Amino acid sequence: MASSPPSASKPETLALTSLHGVGKAMADKLARLNLETRFDLLFHLPARFEDRTRLTPIHQLRHGQKALILGVIEGCQIQFGRRRSLIVQISDQGARIAMRLFYFNAQQQRALENSQWISCFGEARQGASGLEMAHPEYRAHALEPDESEITSDALTPVYPLTEGITHARIRKLILSVLASDLKQVEELLPTDILNATQFMPLAEALQILHTPKPEDDLSALAEFTHPAQQRLAMEELLAHHLALRDIKLKRAGDAAPSIHLNGVAWPKLLQSLPFSLTAAQARAVKDIEADFKSDRPALRLIQGDVGCGKTIVAAAAALHVVDSGFQVAIMAPTELLAEQHRRNFMAWCEPLNIKVAWLSSRLPAAEKRAAKAAIESGECQIAIGTHALFQASVNFKNLGLIVVDEQHRFGVDQRLALKAKGQTGAQIPHQIIMSATPIPRSLSMVYYADLDVSNIDELPPGRKPVTTVVLPNTRREEIQQRVQVACASGKQAYWVCPLIEESDALQAEAATDTAIKLSAALAGLKVELIHGKMKADLKDDIMQKFRSGEIDLLVATTVIEVGVDVPNASLMIIENSERLGLAQLHQLRGRVGRGDDQAACVLMYQSPLGQTSRRRLDIMRQTNDGFEIARHDLEFRGPGELMGTRQTGEHQLKIANIVRDQALLPLVEKTAKMLDEKCPDHIEKIVDRWVKHKAQYAEV
Ligand code: ADP
Ligand code: MG
Repeated sequence: MASSPPSASKPETLALTSLHGVGKAMADKLARLNLETRFDLLFHLPARFEDRTRLTPIHQLRHGQKALILGVIEGCQIQFGRRRSLIVQISDQGARIAMRLFYFNAQQQRALENSQWISCFGEARQGASGLEMAHPEYRAHALEPDESEITSDALTPVYPLTEGITHARIRKLILSVLASDLKQVEELLPTDILNATQFMPLAEALQILHTPKPEDDLSALAEFTHPAQQRLAMEELLAHHLALRDIKLKRAGDAAPSIHLNGVAWPKLLQSLPFSLTAAQARAVKDIEADFKSDRPALRLIQGDVGCGKTIVAAAAALHVVDSGFQVAIMAPTELLAEQHRRNFMAWCEPLNIKVAWLSSRLPAAEKRAAKAAIESGECQIAIGTHALFQASVNFKNLGLIVVDEQHRFGVDQRLALKAKGQTGAQIPHQIIMSATPIPRSLSMVYYADLDVSNIDELPPGRKPVTTVVLPNTRREEIQQRVQVACASGKQAYWVCPLIEESDALQAEAATDTAIKLSAALAGLKVELIHGKMKADLKDDIMQKFRSGEIDLLVATTVIEVGVDVPNASLMIIENSERLGLAQLHQLRGRVGRGDDQAACVLMYQSPLGQTSRRRLDIMRQTNDGFEIARHDLEFRGPGELMGTRQTGEHQLKIANIVRDQALLPLVEKTAKMLDEKCPDHIEKIVDRWVKHKAQYAEV
């Protein structure tokens, strides 16, 4: 079937059915591995490598080692135990190992009984009666085979598979594409760049990875540090970086609402505040003002640790926009947080005669309708709410700015919907994203290169770091006493019961239980409960009471994770802290330490604590620095988790791994700049080669 005319299409677009022996059914199976073109096969890289280039003497085998062995068959019998299995005793220079098969047929058994020799490739495990290999790949031999018959000349690449495709099959397909198409893979990095960065040519890298030689460094290949893997990983990271950078460049050509900076609202608010801005806040405001002065749509990430004061920075932006005659949308991930923004903005805006609309999914229909009407008519200049704000039925008269708080909770989908919402004619609204989960630079280079970033790297004066202790929940009584004492002296505390179960309902139940127990244990304290299943009114009411000091101890699920601001609360207890991510713990802990008192956080855990959990909790104990915590989180959990995109599967890289390959990132940046100078026409080709969902990126 490889009969398409040579010039008809390039192999990067040639369907797999153009390969000999690949029909529609096979092509469909391959599509499940995201393999659609012949070039996709070329770039389908081994997940690992196996060494069958040499025999390992049985006496050298260790538990857990994967190896190729050859030995004499000493015996072959069926063992009846918990599970019936066929045991083949193998010996080699006096050392022994057993091959164990749980699945076998009579024919296999006979063949083994009639053979003298056997070679196996598999993992040796220490069983109850010595070393074993369960279901290795094996071959029985009548006579002692020649070593060269058993060993392969090269390391064996092992590819990701899917049902219905054998390893041998995919290997064969890849080898055939390698032979026919490799020469046509375009080298997109010119020689100067390769020389300067010391990366190997692409074709060479692909050849090595698909057909490694015995002398290739197996341990480097296993750790993905082999120069061939690094070359490909670098190109992939480069492609993502370039894709985002390109979006940023294109945005420069978009028209944006024109915002002037000589309004009175912001200076008035600034004057009325009981504090002055920190230098870092002032810098962030300046950055935004500079964005407004240029006439392209701003897309700025304001990142800064919990409590650094991002809200007032957003207010500065909002007031400039309102003063210029446009509307502002402020969007928060939870009802509670949106509610808090509402309170802040209402207090700030009322004296300035600016109207704030409040939208929540839980509003009665009539109120919702009224709020929407006020947004549509332009009567309200600022609209605050959760996702509900951006449902299809909400229309703005002239939206000029979108503020997204705590971006890491929003997926790209929401960012997309948001942007579509704001587009009025040719104008694209300005966007400000606020995040308390700082994105390490390494990540942002590859995932957020389209954003401008302002860092608020300073907390308002007088904040003291929260003292953190890690305690097993066997010391619960002691901890309760601590709460009792703190509250008796007029302080307030949070007691957080995070997800024991995934479901909201079960979480709520656990928290309810705890609240009842604590209420009984802590005589004289006013204990209240708040969780995600409660009606919004009730939640508001409880938060209001906590804020005013009527409630001493607030038992909560992780609904209070983001943004809640009650300065008098200075003690935070977190149960089952070992189950939470570092970023989440940091967010929770950030709820305290906002007032004048020295604040404390108790991380309770369920013993025994695994090693990784211990390390993670230790990090929480040792540092209050959100950037450092985010860096560790990235290492423990990967970028998807950190950015809240785990479920959607976006940001998936084929070869590169942002944590493992961090060291490549400076080279990625350098290479991007060199490409600009030397061959800008290759940029789009590199993006096309690696970024399948470019369309999605392009719209964000
Ligand atoms: P976050 O960055 O976590 O969203 P907020 O904007 O909620 O922080 O601010 C946290 C608290 O700090 C609020 O009570 C706010 O009024 C206060 N705050 C903000 N900026 C300053 C400042 N420059 N000086 C003193 N307090 C400030
Ligand atoms: Mg906030």
